[in-house]
Amino acid sequence: MENSAVTVAVRVRPFSAREKAEKSSQVIFMNGQETVVQHPESRQSYSFTYDFSFCSVDASDSNFACQQTVYETLAKPLLLRAFEGFNTCLFAYGQTGSGKSYTMMGFEEEVGVIPKFCHELFSKLASIKSEEVKCHVEMSYFEVYNEKIHDLLVTREEPNQRRMPLRVREHPIHGPYVADLNILGWLELGNKQRATAATGMNDKSSRSHSVFTLVMTQTKTELVEGEEHDHSITSRINLIDLAGSERCRSAQTSGDRLREGASINKSLLTLGKVISALSEQALTKKKVFIPYRDSVLTWLLKESLGGNSKTAMIATLSPAGSNVEESLSTLRYAQQARTIINVAKVNEDTNA
Ligand code: ADP
Ligand code: MG
Repeated sequence: MENSAVTVAVRVRPFSAREKAEKSSQVIFMNGQETVVQHPESRQSYSFTYDFSFCSVDASDSNFACQQTVYETLAKPLLLRAFEGFNTCLFAYGQTGSGKSYTMMGFEEEVGVIPKFCHELFSKLASIKSEEVKCHVEMSYFEVYNEKIHDLLVTREEPNQRRMPLRVREHPIHGPYVADLNILGWLELGNKQRATAATGMNDKSSRSHSVFTLVMTQTKTELVEGEEHDHSITSRINLIDLAGSERCRSAQTSGDRLREGASINKSLLTLGKVISALSEQALTKKKVFIPYRDSVLTWLLKESLGGNSKTAMIATLSPAGSNVEESLSTLRYAQQARTIINVAKVNEDTNA
């Protein structure tokens, strides 16, 4: 068993065309682990410390953090833990348009955490000698919308499939490549289904949480006194792109929007409550009731938050003065998440 705090990183994206057109000023500055906000009106400055601060505002800056830096620093350590048999989780939190999907999925050649993670996972699996260890990976990709789970890999043609077994090392020469193409294909299908469902519905992607899960099992067969024993370790990996954090607060007015808003509020609000209850528990060292069951998302993330998992969060920000209030609220949320303590253990199973 290992106690470890949630690792928290923040990332600030470049100015959007709109922010440039509005001549909005830069209010977020980063230096080492420190993130400083200079409020454009009050002139007050707010300082926060995280495990990592990624500045992605200007590619010509010496401290510019590219997609690879974010992957290497934040996600790769989780991959290594997954191979040791720990559950792992990374979630992206931030207002709509702040760079959650860019960070998790990427854009065109600038691929994000999820494809990089899969690529490296399959390369590593392919390098493990097949006679010694058998590996099995299953993926699922779904979204939580209106407190309901929608499987993104299910199509109208094949409505019943739920979990996708991925063939690892199927091809003796192109091994990881086959798995890679396979997984990129599924990701593309999932992203397309996410997008298709969004048309005609007011910015649905800002209201839904997408959850990408891999379950990896490594089984070793050992000969003990002439008998074969299987020993396996399993890791559940959750990579999550949350709904826009502004959905936590913005008042909805009527009809469908009210219902949609209310349920998004439910999962995100409950996530906030779970995080603050866990942080209170860690600070006071007293047992506190954690309302995991109050929303679909927190129920799904139960093990990842305060449970058996190595967990990281990336909070994404706009650099602009026009978004300063949302940014401050994201930074405060991230600061609270940093106090959560998880208790992770290797998931082992031994049978003769
Ligand atoms: P979110 O998922 O949080 O709503 P997106 O990831 O869709 O936000 O980002 C909004 C826009 O900003 C997109 O056009 C995206 O390509 C761009 N963007 C976000 N983060 C970065 C970044 N680090 N570098 C370059 N462009 C970015
Ligand atoms: Mg998005």
